[in-house]
Amino acid sequence: MNIIISLDYELFFGGDPGTVEQCMIVPIKETLKIVNKWNIPLSLFVDAGYVSRLQEYRSKSLYASSQYDLVASQLNDLQKYGHDLQLHVHPHWEDSYLKDNKWMIDTARYKISDFPVTSIHEIVTRYVGALRSLSNNVMAYRAGGWCIQPFEHIKDCLKTNEIWLDSTVYLGGRNASGTHSYDFRNSPKETHWRFSDDPLRQDKSGYFAEIPISSLRMGPRLYWDLAWFKVLGGKSTIQYGDGRAIYPPKKFLAQKLLCATYTPVSLDGYKASFLKEAYLHYKRKYKDRRKEFFVIMGHPKALTPYSLGKLDEFLTEQASQNNFMTYQGVQSILSST
Ligand SMILES: [Zn+2]
Repeated sequence: MNIIISLDYELFFGGDPGTVEQCMIVPIKETLKIVNKWNIPLSLFVDAGYVSRLQEYRSKSLYASSQYDLVASQLNDLQKYGHDLQLHVHPHWEDSYLKDNKWMIDTARYKISDFPVTSIHEIVTRYVGALRSLSNNVMAYRAGGWCIQPFEHIKDCLKTNEIWLDSTVYLGGRNASGTHSYDFRNSPKETHWRFSDDPLRQDKSGYFAEIPISSLRMGPRLYWDLAWFKVLGGKSTIQYGDGRAIYPPKKFLAQKLLCATYTPVSLDGYKASFLKEAYLHYKRKYKDRRKEFFVIMGHPKALTPYSLGKLDEFLTEQASQNNFMTYQGVQSILSST
């Protein structure tokens, strides 16, 4: 298997965004202590709206300038050692601002499709520019909060900016909460494909390639366990991030506690305990084929000492038997498929 470890590098978007140190810098350092043992590269989907906002504020705010320096220096280092920086778009930064050294986060317009079509091109191009000032290899995209639909709003803009790879979709995923909206129930059951207008519709000659995040069907058990784990877990289950996430509506939570749902294969907190199970499932499912991808995701802010321990266990078993890679290496594999 080709395995990609992808992390969405960002603050929190609820009432309290948290600090750069705890949401990004520290958990990435902790992750590196593990992956460096096997020289395994990370792919970071960098919240480019945040980077763009910091670049805008840094000349007028010491606070923003120090935040920017921390982020830019960590991203520079990562790149130097072969890690990958790719585009993550959270457009609510357009409506969020800095006041008394605190980010006032406004997620009323959370998805890119909440913005007028006429401004989407300018926003995304500005974000790509902000990220390209830190990295020369930006060619992959992950929509903020998985909200990639409708794709036609952003399609031409990604093309103009030569972003040809997407890694947002996860098989079976669905969310229709207040802020989020996506439906991946009709996703192809493949680990890579080409598309042109709709990431869920294959088109062999399409400009774009999809490398979906791997996913796992989970009974309600997971969410009950998760709830208990948070209560009983102790110190190692406390996440590094120190902010607050957007709470899903109660109706949505109730659904997860009662029915089976699909969840992305993730390093976040307790979900990391399913890493091995998910990997073995993919290995069985695609055992007669070559050149398949297993894409793990996660958020530095949601990592815990427990979840990094699970990553360590997984890599100890699997590092030598698989090809760990970044999105930059995908093209050569796809073109030889
Ligand atoms: Zn995100």
